[in-house]
Amino acid sequence: MSQSKELIVVQHPLLQHKLTLMRERETPSALFRQLLREISLLLAYEVLRDLELTTKTIHTPLAEMEAPILKGRKLCFVSILRAGNGLLEGMLDLVPSARVGHVGLYRDPETLKPVEYYLKLPDKLEERMVIVVDPMLATGNSAAAAVERVMARGARNVKLVCLLAAPEGVETFHAARPDVPIYTAALDSHLNDHGYIVPGLGDAGDRIYGTK
Ligand code: URA
Repeated sequence: MSQSKELIVVQHPLLQHKLTLMRERETPSALFRQLLREISLLLAYEVLRDLELTTKTIHTPLAEMEAPILKGRKLCFVSILRAGNGLLEGMLDLVPSARVGHVGLYRDPETLKPVEYYLKLPDKLEERMVIVVDPMLATGNSAAAAVERVMARGARNVKLVCLLAAPEGVETFHAARPDVPIYTAALDSHLNDHGYIVPGLGDAGDRIYGTK
């Protein structure tokens, strides 16, 4: 198992600008959702850089050519419910043919540990690149639990994409899964006593769906 503990902070200026708008407390849900969708395209662009290509023969109106196409089985996105769906939608805009899995985990308010209530994953995960998505890498427990389930079903090429990460979450996640790279738009300062990322953006699920 690789021990590389990779953390990739995607620095694209458009992404950073949109993230600032998302963090602002006055930003309404409709705009928040839209920004998350746009940012997820930029994150997907980065995380999918090393998708393998092969070629096929095609005919343009002018000539025959060997043209690049994606190789292997369709990739798989796995959303950690419910906030993960906000990131998932933009990624599906970019890769509409991807397979999709869902992991439902809630955080026990006392222990802050994840408890599973839903799990549905595509088949043949061992032959796919699997991208697990959750906007907030806070304690890291939910992400580690989701990735554990995906890997228990055979996935070997797994990456985690989040919008914001706390140092505590990165450490916990990589202690459990040093072989899974983390892609994020920002590494924030710390977690508060309630497990929220500071400065963060509040509760991602509530901000996406306008709940409280
Ligand atoms: N989950 C959230 O939605 N926000 C945080 O800051 C931490 C966990």
